[in-house]
Amino acid sequence: MIQNPIAWPNGAKCAAAISFDMDADSLIHIAKPDDSYNRSYPISMGRYGPTVGIPRILETYRRYGLKQSFFVPGWCIEHYPETIEAILKDGHEIGHHGWIHEDPCEAGVEAQAAALDRGLEAFDKIVGQRPRGYRAPLYNVSKDTPRLLIERGFAYDSSMMADDIPYMLQTNEGELVEVPVHWGVDDWPPFAHYAEIDYMMPVRGPSAGLAPFWEEFEAAYEAGGMWLAVWHPFLTGRLARWREVDRWLEGVIARGDVWFASLEEIAAHVKSLRDAGEYVPRVENLPYFDGPVS
Ligand SMILES: [Zn+2]
Repeated sequence: MIQNPIAWPNGAKCAAAISFDMDADSLIHIAKPDDSYNRSYPISMGRYGPTVGIPRILETYRRYGLKQSFFVPGWCIEHYPETIEAILKDGHEIGHHGWIHEDPCEAGVEAQAAALDRGLEAFDKIVGQRPRGYRAPLYNVSKDTPRLLIERGFAYDSSMMADDIPYMLQTNEGELVEVPVHWGVDDWPPFAHYAEIDYMMPVRGPSAGLAPFWEEFEAAYEAGGMWLAVWHPFLTGRLARWREVDRWLEGVIARGDVWFASLEEIAAHVKSLRDAGEYVPRVENLPYFDGPVS
């Protein structure tokens, strides 16, 4: 049960979106800045995303007519312009994902603002338009992040976890739509294995690793909610995993009552219902705290 379900377009039973965070090799460069250039294996693991994973994902989306969302650090936009061009050519959304996957909470306000702006410069140079949405690297939204996003004209964030369906973030400076995520729909736990960043977990097989995501979808479908996957091209874009996803998509799309949309479209839909007085979204007032909680 969902307390305040959203009426989705065309009477759809639920909204669905696959968001891909194209981190590529930014992860190793930010984790080991002194010698990442000398660590070829994690660089190669990251490069799989833009060079092999994304073309495969785009082909599937073309076949099913899907327009989805990709969140990309500015550094990756500048280093993989052909991949960005391919994503844009197919009409997908590209959202902001920091500069080089720096942790916003560890950076401090000034450095966080600088990383946001440097990322925006990459959008200006390569994407040709400013992003509407943001996903914080590591989901690490600091208490200042919503304000920094509002000041830069962002429409939505997709990093927080306070509800099953989109809600509003209200600050003194303005508002954002929050398109919420959670760890149950993130492919890092079942599929990532990355010793260089101290992430050592057993890698699940394709169907076993993906099964929890399908359970999450069925619960959202039954409740008329939203299912949002947070995946990475170098993880779920790998051959055997994506084969499973492709088959699953075929079945779900055939149901005919699932609204697959980009996060920008989902956020805009909720905001337009709210502005028209047809829906009252839940509101979270931010920042949660101004200082240390004793
Ligand atoms: Zn990321």
